[in-house]
Amino acid sequence: MAKFRPRILHHGRTLVTSPVPTSPPATQAPNPFAHARFLLSAAKLTQLPQDHLAEVAFVGRSNAGKSSALNLICQQKQLARVSKTPGRTQLINLFDLPVTAAAATEAAPQASIRARLVDLPGYGFAQVPLEIRRNWGLLVGGFVEQRINLRGLVVVMDIRHPMTDLDLQMLGWCEARGLPTHILLTKADKLGHGAGKNVLLKVRKELRELDPAMTVQTFSAHTQMGAEMVREVLTAWLEAPASGDQPV
Ligand code: GDP
Repeated sequence: MAKFRPRILHHGRTLVTSPVPTSPPATQAPNPFAHARFLLSAAKLTQLPQDHLAEVAFVGRSNAGKSSALNLICQQKQLARVSKTPGRTQLINLFDLPVTAAAATEAAPQASIRARLVDLPGYGFAQVPLEIRRNWGLLVGGFVEQRINLRGLVVVMDIRHPMTDLDLQMLGWCEARGLPTHILLTKADKLGHGAGKNVLLKVRKELRELDPAMTVQTFSAHTQMGAEMVREVLTAWLEAPASGDQPV
């Protein structure tokens, strides 16, 4: 496995996401993620489905708000369990986005996407034994490096503590793989509008140095700020034709 460090590469890959949309759609589109349902938990990469279905994965520091974000994106209260023992959840959780009856209606073609959402185990708890941290590195590092199904990665960060060393290392992995990467600055309701915008601009500036293709937005699971925006990013990734990208 490649070293878990940020690398700055400018390898001219295709940017799948255009700059993040800034205004919500005039009419509320059907939510293609609302039909997500739990598929399986995997403790090892070999337990993951071996097919070519597109996947997007969510990752972030424990307690950053990843489960809450997934629940809001999918408009379900208990999809990803919000209350967990920090750092102990060492499983990759997969959620299926099935083709539903809604997909059959021509009036709402985007109501269904055949794909999977992946909830990767969180990182960053000091109390977690070394053995578990090592295991996390193998599991998540291996997934990000090798999973051919992966179309993009959402990195969840608490807006009050963004771009920690571990976040940067995570972004380094995404960058090394050449994966579309979108950052959610969660809990934006905890900051005032001006302060939140300042963090957004600062992170955007840092990303320009690290990898200009990466995108970032503010988000709040409590106020639903940014929910539609992240759904649009995910939809664009999942609907884009596979690039033929091979694992590094
Ligand atoms: P995870 O460990 O990254 O999955 O984080 P959780 O989704 O379990 O959230 C951790 C804590 O942060 C919980 O107490 C949530 O209620 C809280 N939380 C999550 N998202 C938000 C948010 O957008 N705003 C606020 N104020 N709290 C949030």
